[in-house]
Amino acid sequence: MVNIDDISTIAIIGTGIMGHEIAQVALMGGFKTVILNDLSADIINNAEKKIKTGLKKLESKGILNEGYTTSNLMNSLVKEVNLEKAIYNADFIIEAIPEVMKLKKALFKKLGEFSPEHAILATNTSTMSISEIASASNKPHKVIGCHFFTPIVVLRLIEIIKGKKTSEDTVEVAKAVCQRFPALQGKRFLPILQKESPGFIVNRITGATSIYLNWLLEFSRKKGIPLEKIDADTESFAEIGPFAKLDHLGLDTVYNALSYLAEELSPEFAPGKTLTSLVKNGHLGLKTGKGLFDWKEGNPNFKKNEKAGLFNIDLFMAIQLNEGCRLLEDRIVSSYKLIDDSMMTGMNLPGPFGPGKRNYERWTRLLEEFVENTGINYLKPCNLMKSGGFIKMRK
Ligand code: NAD
Repeated sequence: MVNIDDISTIAIIGTGIMGHEIAQVALMGGFKTVILNDLSADIINNAEKKIKTGLKKLESKGILNEGYTTSNLMNSLVKEVNLEKAIYNADFIIEAIPEVMKLKKALFKKLGEFSPEHAILATNTSTMSISEIASASNKPHKVIGCHFFTPIVVLRLIEIIKGKKTSEDTVEVAKAVCQRFPALQGKRFLPILQKESPGFIVNRITGATSIYLNWLLEFSRKKGIPLEKIDADTESFAEIGPFAKLDHLGLDTVYNALSYLAEELSPEFAPGKTLTSLVKNGHLGLKTGKGLFDWKEGNPNFKKNEKAGLFNIDLFMAIQLNEGCRLLEDRIVSSYKLIDDSMMTGMNLPGPFGPGKRNYERWTRLLEEFVENTGINYLKPCNLMKSGGFIKMRK
């Protein structure tokens, strides 16, 4: 049995968008040593700079815990480009490399070989089977999914996903470690999935809405409608438009996640022509300076008053309700409140079940019309949504 007090060294493998943010909250959580590992020293140095900037910003606002300063926290950060050296003494290892099963399995084989016997191996995969990733390590009982949401320092949600062989001890330690990562919005929310399922909770739901976004993307390209106008449609209820959000997440990550869902759930999740061509040409969003929008000169100058009038929020919510009902039908989660709470704490958006109780009949008709007009059959309303049966289920 590993005790949380014995966990003092956290190693982060992959220091991109997610890895550097995880390292920052691990430092803020007071872990003695936080090790950064990536493919090159340059990448690690870049992550170190971002962590320092992130900490300084919080320090200047007086948000760091008492007794902590940027410089004393940065003293706990270690950079190590050699994987074996990075993990030989680690207690808890968090993988945040690209969303490609082959890469993750190759890494977990090495993690299994070179990590100390007691070390827990967590993956930040956003969609993939923990059991399959774990099968490459020689200690699947020590492997667990800890799925973070960016900005990690703000949002409370970390989904905890067990593989078939994950031990209860591993779950308990992972929960305790994640609880120590501070979040500005409050205490960490750590739902545990009843069983493994592609996309877990939040990305299963956002994956389904991506089918709609994909359709909107292709439709707007065909009709010559600028994407910023569609983003402007969402201005009154979302801090950031759905297309700008994709650029923030990284188009390669979105592409890989949708490709995985297409293989596992339905081919209708597959990324469309526009997304595919951007990714193939290396335009991955904010991180490369260009994606659906151009970020080279900083934030694009979106004109929020010029709207396309195309984005249908009711349809968007209907898709979420339908996918949430499928999670309930498949017994992946046991309560609809857990789904709504996950959407709020991971996406800062209200979940579909609250308003769905009043609107499910109208939303069912909307979905049926959309399916009829587009031929996208995956979005057909499921029985639990159509019947409103979810209302009688456990909250
Ligand atoms: P990213 O492209 O920003 O970073 C990936 C990093 O991994 C890069 O720095 C790359 O050099 C490094 N890398 C690649 N192969 C490596 C290896 N073998 N060893 C060490 N480092 C290696 O990607 P990201 O957005 O940080 O995503 C990482 C993971 O987190 C993915 O599984 C993704 O699905 C998941 N995730 C992403 C988000 C998001 O919003 N971007 C949210 C939750 C989960």
